[in-house]
Amino acid sequence: MVESCQKSKVRENMQIRTISPEETEAVGRKIAAKLLPGDIIAYYGDLGAGKTAFTRGLAAGLGVTEQVTSPTYTIVNEYLSGRLPLFHFDMYRLDSADDLFDIGWEDYLARGGVCAVEWSENVEEALSGAIRITIHKDPADENVRTITIEGGERFVDLGV
Ligand code: ADP
Ligand code: MG
Repeated sequence: MVESCQKSKVRENMQIRTISPEETEAVGRKIAAKLLPGDIIAYYGDLGAGKTAFTRGLAAGLGVTEQVTSPTYTIVNEYLSGRLPLFHFDMYRLDSADDLFDIGWEDYLARGGVCAVEWSENVEEALSGAIRITIHKDPADENVRTITIEGGERFVDLGV
């Protein structure tokens, strides 16, 4: 118990400021280099924050050759052409983690890929071990974002 408290205190959180969608994608590309089978990326942030842009970078970094589009209407898009499978979810229309069963969430987890989850807020209970990525829009500048990465000890030496 004490040990886990100490660990959480030294746990590195990173904050990065980007000034274009390309820069946000570039952060995603760097993170992708260290992703492991079964990793879950839980995004937090408003509509238009840049969650899909970040995922485009993740996909590029994994070597995905298909074009990444928003899974808003499909709930999940699968990209299988990279180093690891990438499953890109949009949980906007889910009410709670109870709805995950219906979309086959456990099956995706079992496939040893990376799950990148937009609107994690809606299924928070199911995502406790995830790498949390919060993207904030700067109210004063439409091209500026602050990206906070939590649970990303592995990524610190990437210099993001
Ligand atoms: P979300 O998936 O969070 O709804 P998108 O990635 O679809 O957001 O859209 C982000 C929008 O914000 C795009 O229109 C993009 O061009 C714009 N944008 C402007 N600046 C940035 C930035 N620094 N990072 C990411 N997106 C940005
Ligand atoms: Mg999106």
